[in-house]
Amino acid sequence: MNIVIWLTLVLILARLAAELWLAAFNCRHVLAHAGEIPPVFRGLIDEPTYKKSIAYTLAKGRFGNIEDTYNTAVLLIVLFSGVLPWVFHLFSDGLGQSAWTMAVFLFAVGFAMSLLGWPFDWYAQFQLEQKFGFNTTTPGIWWLDRLKGLLLAMVIGYPLLVLILKIVQWTGAGWWLWAWAALLAFQLLMSVLAPVLILPLFNKFTPLPEGSLRERLLALAQRTRFRTQSVQLMDGSKRSRHSNAFFTGFGRFRKIVLFDTLVQQLTEPELEAVLAHEIGHYKKKHIPQMLSFSAITSLIGFYLISLLARQEWFYRAFGFEPGNVAPALLLFGLLAGTVTFWFSPLIHWWLRRYEYQADAFAARVMNGAQSLIGALRKLNEKNLSNLTPHPLYSGFYYSHPTLLEREEALAGKM
Ligand SMILES: [Zn+2]
Repeated sequence: MNIVIWLTLVLILARLAAELWLAAFNCRHVLAHAGEIPPVFRGLIDEPTYKKSIAYTLAKGRFGNIEDTYNTAVLLIVLFSGVLPWVFHLFSDGLGQSAWTMAVFLFAVGFAMSLLGWPFDWYAQFQLEQKFGFNTTTPGIWWLDRLKGLLLAMVIGYPLLVLILKIVQWTGAGWWLWAWAALLAFQLLMSVLAPVLILPLFNKFTPLPEGSLRERLLALAQRTRFRTQSVQLMDGSKRSRHSNAFFTGFGRFRKIVLFDTLVQQLTEPELEAVLAHEIGHYKKKHIPQMLSFSAITSLIGFYLISLLARQEWFYRAFGFEPGNVAPALLLFGLLAGTVTFWFSPLIHWWLRRYEYQADAFAARVMNGAQSLIGALRKLNEKNLSNLTPHPLYSGFYYSHPTLLEREEALAGKM
């Protein structure tokens, strides 16, 4: 067998093995603590909720294992059954190899791949989340979300694909730099347009009504010199009982958004602490740092694609004829995850540093950590978070430190 195929197989199967192994490790660790509430959490969570959080963690673990195995099987079949070159010929023989046609090819394969994941999305929403009392989505909303997603991909994603393929034709060997610049410009444009044009397609946003909460939050924004246009309430309860907060937009278009579910669950000082944490992310410049990181990653990505697109062996290994960049783009898109997976501990470690910094900022502007800790405890409880993940598991996957880690870091700031 061809060395490229061997290497691909090893990468794909190694990722699955690591996923299953980490999940098994985590499951055993959770079960070891399942008998009774660990002493540090006593008085913080009641027995039935603790038991429920364990059951939820284990159910998600089992579901994750099936999903990971299924995704791996799908990837192997798609890569090695010859279906991709067959579809490629279907398009190029019938319609030629223009940027417009090749973009249809990429779009069709991408859509088919996402279609194969729909049964799992459906099960997660209407069985798993339903069973633990989180689901509020109706089948009607679920289907409508998918339809809107598809239409948005056609209106926004397809033209972007055409543009990138056109850039390859226009600019020659250095195309990767131009394509990267185009993607970057596109992302900047979207970060301005998405809050205004796209988010309202999925959720309703209303200004937080006049009153003590609004005054409190705006006073915090003023105290921390965080310019904001308004505080908005989002109907997150339309889909789920999970809760969240975030802000969108730049400069004077910036808006603070609170899920209605969050406002129902937390007290006013706790909501203020959550917002202080979000402002902390902003003040510590985490957002431009993350954008720069993703810009560097996509630059490396485009460069690698441009290298691969010149290798005949790469095309032949997967049954394609060299000459068109579209198969290289597609194969890279399908395989990049098998490599980036191994960087996730490093990336998550970096993101957890951001959380500690934002927590520290919140404790400082709130003159103490009590209300933030109160909010974190409630959010962990309401969302049935796993209180006892295996350190290897949380180290690998968690973008936020665990409740215990955050409380320990805040302990000095009470
Ligand atoms: Zn955060």
